[in-house]
Amino acid sequence: MSAASDRTNSNLFAALRAAFPNDLGSIAIETDSGLFYTWRDLDRASAMMANLLRSLGLPEGARVASQVEKSVEALVLYLATVRAGYVFVPLNTAYQSAEIEYFIGDAEPSVVVCSAANFGWVSKLAFKAGTRHVFTLNDDRTGSLLERAAHHSDAHEIAHVSEAALASIIYTSGTTGRSKGAMLTHGNLLSNAQVLKRFWGWKKGDVLIHALPIFHAHGLFVASHGALLSGSKMIWMGRFDPKLAVARMPDATVFMGVPTLYVRMLAEAGLNKQAVRNMRLFISGSAPLLIETFSAWQDRTGHTILERYGMSETVMLTSNPYEAKDGERRGGTVGFALPGVGVRVCGDDGAKLPAGQIGAIEVKGPNVFCGYWRMPEKTRDEFTADGWFKTGDVGRFDERGYLTIVGRTKDLIISGGYNVYPAEIEGYINDMPGVDESALVGVPHPDFGEVGVAVVIPRSGSRIDGDQIVAQLKSQLANFKIPKRCFVVDVLPRNAMGKVQKNILRDQHRELFQP
Ligand code: AMP
Repeated sequence: MSAASDRTNSNLFAALRAAFPNDLGSIAIETDSGLFYTWRDLDRASAMMANLLRSLGLPEGARVASQVEKSVEALVLYLATVRAGYVFVPLNTAYQSAEIEYFIGDAEPSVVVCSAANFGWVSKLAFKAGTRHVFTLNDDRTGSLLERAAHHSDAHEIAHVSEAALASIIYTSGTTGRSKGAMLTHGNLLSNAQVLKRFWGWKKGDVLIHALPIFHAHGLFVASHGALLSGSKMIWMGRFDPKLAVARMPDATVFMGVPTLYVRMLAEAGLNKQAVRNMRLFISGSAPLLIETFSAWQDRTGHTILERYGMSETVMLTSNPYEAKDGERRGGTVGFALPGVGVRVCGDDGAKLPAGQIGAIEVKGPNVFCGYWRMPEKTRDEFTADGWFKTGDVGRFDERGYLTIVGRTKDLIISGGYNVYPAEIEGYINDMPGVDESALVGVPHPDFGEVGVAVVIPRSGSRIDGDQIVAQLKSQLANFKIPKRCFVVDVLPRNAMGKVQKNILRDQHRELFQP
């Protein structure tokens, strides 16, 4: 972190800052509450906050943890932390005290930032864990963080760091066991942002509708870096509102969302070809995009959603093609490995499998994280001897190199010794009339070890029957793949990124076949 001006600075913020437009007085961010931030505002505000952090005399590699509502100032806190050479730890706003206690105890942040409403209990936990500074930041531009930063200079020399220096720790959603902190370096984040900038054709003049939360890699890294690294404006939504998103579409060129955001926008009457006339790219990821959504979007808007695949530990790994010359965007697939990223599908013996065969997805590249925070054994377990990261996802390549994800390793059901891939059975159920969506989970069974249980949501106004669904599957699939029970419910449990929480479904039905 020493100032050595003769060395290139690998600080991610230096690259973002270099991409700001020459006209620093132009608008960088426009919010849904009618605020406008220029590029100069972002530069100055992050400098002041970086100076505040520096003034605290934090140790090298200090963590700055933040659990605050989405706001431009919350983004500035991230930029300031990276700019000052510290490590940003974003925390999901849904986390309650037991979870926050775990994350603060694990990350041992020197600085914690929370909302004024949570200051009482968060500061108590933080001080108990040895944190020295707790600031508040609210989504209406108030709080002690901004008050303190206001006393600092708006000039700041970006900290010199190496590519290998930590920039952020992202806690995985961790549906089983302890949540792990994925350590991402400046090199990881910048290399991925640069690859995506080229691959997705980001350019000055693009306008991104930023509708995702910023406590997750998707909204914080993929979306924000995309816009910042190309000097493009963002339309900033504190919370996703489908009506507002559709209303702002004519002013935008790029939209990034999780599948549920697309489903919700499709329910808006205002979504049509006219509304998207200036858009050039719709990107989806973080959870599987149903083929129905992919097709409905094409019909309504004339645009083909580009689906991509990534994870907290690796940022982005694969993408459907952007340019038509590279191929079509194929629904139900997550496209090809991104340039510079190695992706392979391996069998149980670790050998690489040919196209068409299902196996474990392993990855390698400059974007792959450097390990789990303070979990060296776990880190060793998750990498192969030749340095590939085991994603925990199961998938297959087709002959043309498109990757399809069929589920998580831990969601795989082994019934009577046979592998059942949930995505395959879910696909059949989703195709049945009256079905909106489904999830298949494995639960313990005295004879088969595990069996599948389907949980199905009907289309609005449709009546469906679980036993009939099972009966129909019997005429379509091998017996070992047939769910033993099928429940019809109103909603599936989802996390903030729209992922179905299969662990909750498994827990609900765990006892079904117990004697
Ligand atoms: P997270 O670390 O919270 O971003 O979760 C990463 C996981 O989300 C991956 O390991 C995949 O299981 C899943 N995921 C991300 N993108 C997709 C996608 N396009 N289709 C299916 N699953 C996805």
